Amino acid sequence: MINAVKMSPTRRQLLKTAMAGTAGLLGAPALRFAWAQQTGAETGNVKLADDLYIVRLPGEAAVVAQTSRDGVLLVDGGSAAGSSAVLKAVAALPNGSGKVHTLFNTHWHPEQTGSNQTLGAAGAAIIAQENTRLWLQQNITWPWNGRKFKKFAKSAQPNKTFYDKGALDSGVRYGYIADAAHTDGDLYVYFPQQNVLAVGDAAYGQGWPVIDWWTGGWIGGIVGGLQRIQTVANKETKIVPAQGPVLTLDDINAQVNMYGTIYDRLNQMLNKGHSPSEGVEAKPAKEFEAKMGNPDEFIRRAFESLWAYLSPDA
Ligand SMILES: [Zn+2]
Repeated sequence: MINAVKMSPTRRQLLKTAMAGTAGLLGAPALRFAWAQQTGAETGNVKLADDLYIVRLPGEAAVVAQTSRDGVLLVDGGSAAGSSAVLKAVAALPNGSGKVHTLFNTHWHPEQTGSNQTLGAAGAAIIAQENTRLWLQQNITWPWNGRKFKKFAKSAQPNKTFYDKGALDSGVRYGYIADAAHTDGDLYVYFPQQNVLAVGDAAYGQGWPVIDWWTGGWIGGIVGGLQRIQTVANKETKIVPAQGPVLTLDDINAQVNMYGTIYDRLNQMLNKGHSPSEGVEAKPAKEFEAKMGNPDEFIRRAFESLWAYLSPDA
């Protein structure tokens, strides 16, 4: 695992505040993500096992649904706008019409937590890493594009949080992806019987990832998170990201190499005192662009994330 040089919360907050003030200087705001052009390409249900499905609606992130006589378990619940369609699609699964008893939030983003209100009010256990609950308790504004997120009502917040790992009576295991690949509250859910591992946005199935450094994600965390996934998965594991098709361990291995290369290059540039814009201009993802698409927005966020995590204490 890659260890971040941890700075004190006060120091981090100061740096974040300073960076927010310069956000306008960092270049054009990101109004859409690389993958946004492609969402919708992967729609329809994917059957992973007799009792386990990916439900994917146009424009929505993946929802993993496990059905049983006791009801339904979901990993992520779609966006607020898509919630009723997602829950309807879940109810239409074989044996999916039972009550949703458990909902995992892989992280706090609205693409994952849009069913919290409905399911929380209906009495479901909403399981999340503690940091995810903390983010959902406050209003958030992303400095790079001004996007605002409203805090959740208590009934919509995760009501069963953990720090490190846990397991359900059914044998399903879950754990914290402490590397902060995407946010500082990422979790995985592993279904051992079906050998399926849901990872949210800690791994992307298509396009360049979003690095939400405002809530803790960073480029070193992408590498560390993928390395952690390598330790949980085996050769036959179906790895389900929030975006894009199901991945294999081979895919994860290739991603570790790619993001590791980019991380090293950006780290060197940071140490030489370069800016995020210079990082983008240096084209540190050059050999991956043909396959992955234009990396500029990703590189900018990645560089800023390094800045937030690795800047030496003044
Ligand atoms: Zn996300």
